[in-house]
Amino acid sequence: MLSYRHGFHAGNPADVFKHAVLVTLIRCMQEKPAGITFIDTHAGPARYDLTDEWAQKTREYEAGIGEVWPTRSQAGLLQDYLDQVAALNPDGALRFYPGSPLLMAALLREVDRLVICELHPSEQQQLRRELGKQEQVTIHAGDGYEALTRHLPPPTGRGLVLIDPSYELKDEVDTMGRALEQALRRFGHGVYLIWYPMIEGREIDMEVLPARLGLPEDRWLDLQIEFPEAQRLGRMWGTGMALINPPWRARGPLTELTEQVFQGRVHHL
Ligand code: SAM
Repeated sequence: MLSYRHGFHAGNPADVFKHAVLVTLIRCMQEKPAGITFIDTHAGPARYDLTDEWAQKTREYEAGIGEVWPTRSQAGLLQDYLDQVAALNPDGALRFYPGSPLLMAALLREVDRLVICELHPSEQQQLRRELGKQEQVTIHAGDGYEALTRHLPPPTGRGLVLIDPSYELKDEVDTMGRALEQALRRFGHGVYLIWYPMIEGREIDMEVLPARLGLPEDRWLDLQIEFPEAQRLGRMWGTGMALINPPWRARGPLTELTEQVFQGRVHHL
């Protein structure tokens, strides 16, 4: 069993970037009326209590959501994302932080569907408590990569897959590459959003993916940010979100978000 628990890291600077990108991308895709199936392959427990023992042990959220929370009444490109966090904290005190499944569930339209996958039994329990009763949501208690073959191509015809592993396993990118090869065979025009950390002394090479998957220039986009010195998380000095089949209408907003809010860079092939 894997030991990683996202409760120690929820709301940290990497989460803020990941979730702001996710919300921006979803909103852009929803400009078209046709339904979308969202698949979260590595869901975590959905809701985090920042006052609990784990969050308080690392206090990583302070340099992340803690930094941007005070700007929530006028947050510019982060407004939509911060509104989702604010919805969990109606009295204005920051206590709860939404994980990716909760963010996606909150943004579902009637025509959309959400599949969430999680391997850890405790996180599965929390997911069931939080989202188990929502009709549009399917919880897959098992491997997220395997779930892709089961749920692709999606019945809605359009789809966004979020892949957000903890990278505990050394061969994660290879496993992901294999899963993506299959997924693209089944659902070649789906949008795939992949989170990855940038860690000193442990390079995670995402550049191998477009080559392995035979993706041409216009089907790969990589958004990267470096954390300011004070926000570094141990050896993690930055983070990235790689996109397969980035929708045209999302390119501008995602570039603006990455460059203007996070002072990051957008890499094309
Ligand atoms: N996506 C979440 C968010 O943004 O709030 C955080 C996810 S956390 C980085 C990774 C999660 O994936 C952990 O809860 C872990 O238990 C789970 N996990 C690890 N390997 C998995 C696999 N092969 N399939 C499904 N879940 C997995």
